[in-house]
Amino acid sequence: MSRISTLALTILALTVASSLSAQQSFTVGTATAAPGQKATGYLEVPAGVDAATSIPVVVVNGAKPGKVLALVSGAHGTEYVSIIAIEKLIPALDPAQVTGTVILVPLINIQSFEQKVPHVNPVDNKSMNRFYPGKADGTQTERASFLITKEIVDRCDYLIDYHGGDLDESLRPYAYWGPTGREAQDRISKEMVLAFGLDHIIIWSERPTDPAATRYLDNTASVRGKPSIVVEAGHAGTVETDDVNLLVNGTLSTMRALKMLPGDPHPIENPVWIEKLSDVLADGPGIWYPLVKRGTYVSAGMKLGTITDFFGKVITEPRAPVSGVVLHVNAVPSLKKADNIADLGVIASHAP
Ligand SMILES: [Zn+2]
Repeated sequence: MSRISTLALTILALTVASSLSAQQSFTVGTATAAPGQKATGYLEVPAGVDAATSIPVVVVNGAKPGKVLALVSGAHGTEYVSIIAIEKLIPALDPAQVTGTVILVPLINIQSFEQKVPHVNPVDNKSMNRFYPGKADGTQTERASFLITKEIVDRCDYLIDYHGGDLDESLRPYAYWGPTGREAQDRISKEMVLAFGLDHIIIWSERPTDPAATRYLDNTASVRGKPSIVVEAGHAGTVETDDVNLLVNGTLSTMRALKMLPGDPHPIENPVWIEKLSDVLADGPGIWYPLVKRGTYVSAGMKLGTITDFFGKVITEPRAPVSGVVLHVNAVPSLKKADNIADLGVIASHAP
């Protein structure tokens, strides 16, 4: 081999190496991680009609190149188990072991967390999982959703959205699987939800299909062709180790199924598939005395509890509109009109 061709090969090799490493460095917001590194930073949501906010983000850039998985939590900042699970995953994910890139967002709704306000962002009183794909000139929730769509949804290949029972919800763990009718995508999302391992899975059909009005985070990713699931564990402000472990171990198992971590996944066998949800709402204010617990199986017509006025007089005794499992039930005595008393899941007659 002549000296010239050796030199040419060396230059070529250096060029390829430098362009590869440039491609492999991964930035989300202010977090930039080189291959084999982990970086922290913020998604900076600029001020608009209301205040700015900074959403913490972590990039785990694997030593080996591959797909991008987004793990997003804390849209509801008092669903603590979902937030703590991502906090546990931040140190647990070793970039040397990871193939591809993991983007972790432990807490979208910081004001909800700090002020202990359930369900909404207290800055604009909006749920941070109802306004996707967001608006650059909207209120804080809409601007945050817009940035998350652009910086995370558009850049990932797979997405998991984490929730749980809020301060006033006694919830049994479950996952949502939203089939799109696109066979290849649905096969992967189904593999993800089975690998995650939660034993009750809601088949979430009839969701918005307009990319400009997708409402939910996982649906925003799903409509854009990225296999996505929702997972829920934890209840009523508690942080129980069993619940945290469900979400941490489920995530690791899903990453194994996606070949982003070495080892075998531990998919759930024969989960309970739920084909329909039935919300029971309060038709007026009162004091709630439940007769059922999270996870209780009920028959249609069974009494779910009692609602009294402030003098102890029974106003109404809500009954189960369908037969199924109590996915969550109001965890506190407070009730106002249209509050959710319970959410029942109707068991599917056959697995999808
Ligand atoms: Zn939630």
